[in-house]
Amino acid sequence: MNEEKLYSLSPQHPQRTVIQVGNIRIGSDFLLVAGPCSVESEKQMITIAWQVKEAGANMLRGGAFKPRTSPYAFQGLGLSGLKILDKARKETGLPVVTEVIDPRDALWVSEFADVLQIGARNMQNFSLIKEVGKVGKPVLLKRGMTSTMSEWLNCAEYILAEGNPNVILCERGIRTFETHTRNTLDLSMVPALKEVSHLPVIVDPSHGTGRLNLIEPMGLAAVAAGCDGLMVEVHCNPEEALSDKEQAFTPQQFAAMAAKVFKLRRFMQEMTAAGAC
Ligand code: PEP
Ligand code: MN
Repeated sequence: MNEEKLYSLSPQHPQRTVIQVGNIRIGSDFLLVAGPCSVESEKQMITIAWQVKEAGANMLRGGAFKPRTSPYAFQGLGLSGLKILDKARKETGLPVVTEVIDPRDALWVSEFADVLQIGARNMQNFSLIKEVGKVGKPVLLKRGMTSTMSEWLNCAEYILAEGNPNVILCERGIRTFETHTRNTLDLSMVPALKEVSHLPVIVDPSHGTGRLNLIEPMGLAAVAAGCDGLMVEVHCNPEEALSDKEQAFTPQQFAAMAAKVFKLRRFMQEMTAAGAC
């Protein structure tokens, strides 16, 4: 990696990046993003939004454009999904993150979102990331499923090079020979990225494991590794979810996890403060 030129690396940026979204300071406050894989209906989205807010989430997720493996699988509600997301945001006050999959959509989708997500399948879609970079809204950049840290940081760099410094890196697991889990969640990326880059790093244990029983332990492990936040998929009725139902937490499961996450985060902060004296 040509480190000299990468603004996403620390030498050029002695300060860690802190991104203000509403009243959250991402990179300083803990970011807890939760919500369904896909926006399915107004009732579903508003119900989940209130449930995750109640449990302590400070950002809402929901995909209106879904990059699915099969062309016959649910592709998302598009504009009507974004309108629903906007309603959920206005009712609950939670800022929203949603995925953009087409460069032609970047600008108008940004009117409905506080943060734009680039999904794993599009991490190296350079025309998309450049377009999203131009829009100026913070970008949540998921790691490509076969990408190295260097490739990932270079993609962040494309966004920074458009004059947008507000990039959040999201580890969501990579493809390995292991088939028990949906992906192999590479938690070593959390301290590794923190060492070389000033950008905030969050972890998605839902896509990272694809298994309900592994989401909480891996989420807690990510907090112990020092991440700046988590993204978790939650559905009010997981069996009926139109996408990723195998990995959807119930609101109760999410609330139980969130309580442990906040406790562990406090403990980690106390340890860091004690170490600093
Ligand atoms: C998502 O967050 O909805 C998603 C599709 O995740 P990923 O891009 O990590 O597969
Ligand atoms: Mn999903």
